[in-house]
Amino acid sequence: MLLFYFKTPLPPSPATIITTGISNQKQWAPIDQPVAQPINLPENTNPPIPPVTKEKYTINAAIDYDRHLINVEETVVYPNRSGRELNSLVLAVASNLSPDCFTLTNLKVDQIDSDYELNGQRLEIPLQTPLAPDSAIKLTLRFSLALPYIGQFNTLNSPVFGYSDVQMNLINWYPFVVPFIDGEWNLHDPLYYGENLTYPSADYEVYVVFPKQEEIPVVAASGEAESIGAITRYTLENGRAFALSISPDFQVSTMRVGDVTIYSYSLPLYQRPAEAALQTSTLALDYFSMKFGPYPHKTLSIVQADLNDSREFSGLFFLSRNFYQLYDGTDKNYLTFTSLHSVAHQWWFDQVANDPAMEPWLDESLATWSESLYLEQFNPDVLPYWWTNRVDFFRPQGKIDISIYESQGYDSYKQSVYFNGTHFINDLRERVGEETFSDFLEDYVAQSQGEIVTSADFFRILNEHTSADYSDLIEEYFR
Ligand SMILES: [Zn+2]
Repeated sequence: MLLFYFKTPLPPSPATIITTGISNQKQWAPIDQPVAQPINLPENTNPPIPPVTKEKYTINAAIDYDRHLINVEETVVYPNRSGRELNSLVLAVASNLSPDCFTLTNLKVDQIDSDYELNGQRLEIPLQTPLAPDSAIKLTLRFSLALPYIGQFNTLNSPVFGYSDVQMNLINWYPFVVPFIDGEWNLHDPLYYGENLTYPSADYEVYVVFPKQEEIPVVAASGEAESIGAITRYTLENGRAFALSISPDFQVSTMRVGDVTIYSYSLPLYQRPAEAALQTSTLALDYFSMKFGPYPHKTLSIVQADLNDSREFSGLFFLSRNFYQLYDGTDKNYLTFTSLHSVAHQWWFDQVANDPAMEPWLDESLATWSESLYLEQFNPDVLPYWWTNRVDFFRPQGKIDISIYESQGYDSYKQSVYFNGTHFINDLRERVGEETFSDFLEDYVAQSQGEIVTSADFFRILNEHTSADYSDLIEEYFR
């Protein structure tokens, strides 16, 4: 591994900017306060910087909550671990899928203004000097976001991105370098269902400030918070995606398990379901830590949101407001099921990631099946109800190893990937035995942590734990 030092900055040269795709010409008055500056960041001088082995994102966000505007300065330190020379970098800019949302005002590569091409969600940066294997590069981006109203115009990013009457949700809100896998940049087209972004593991340091706000709203974030005057710093290590949700109306309750704090952020009048989601999630985090391996972060935030389903990010997940409304005080409801599902994604998404567009069964079948693992332990009486109403009601069928582009719509996608996938995991566990399957899952996490796995990895690690013949299950569930 080579040590990497940032080059001495050269005088900036005028940049040629090619922007294609969605126009970003909408005029609005930028926030007139400067972007928050990091406090006491180490200088990039002597002593030697340790070798860069992992992506590091430092993001300063100045948020105008009332006008739904955000000014951002983002620094990305990107080590080239591809084993080959890279002539360009590709970043995902999901916010550019919302009309007139994303405006890039400056882009620097190793402190020099750079060309770029922005086309839809794809930002490609040609490198003047190719990036050698095991060396690192520093990108600095300045951009602003004019957030869309949730649910309007932005279904291709996600129905949770933007602002509503009660909150502001920042998901996939900063450009990130997509993984380089088998000689290609992994960036798939969005669809109106399923997930299309594959996330590398990275470290995050996010500074948030509200220069215009007299009363600072409540912030739910992926990382651990620390106040530095008016600025809050959030840190997240080995995360996949850093999300924020902000509301002046959030009510917060917390529980602790070990050194992890679980937060529940809910809207007024939902105190009881919010506490139920908190208790279920806390118990699940503890149990899944025991079954799959330790939870790696210091916080987990549950956020009640204006969306129709649930959506997971690192150390934070959103649950539909509807689940809170329909909560009946028992475990026989979607608030419980989706809480369990979302906590399980902290293993099957955050710790062990996969390409969710091409092989969505890898995380979704395990996350759905994990709900039953919890119920089996804590509320076995609910299990028959869960199989009938959560899984079989949707008529599971179809091969599970399909991409999001191959299914015939959202219902058939869930029938195969989620629900038939759950039956596959359950059948596989019965075939190899509970104890063997449990050992396998723990080892699958240990071996795959921070990586982006494929079906081949899943079965390679499984075969290290069992010699059982499950070829008939492969025949039944896979193409
Ligand atoms: Zn899921």
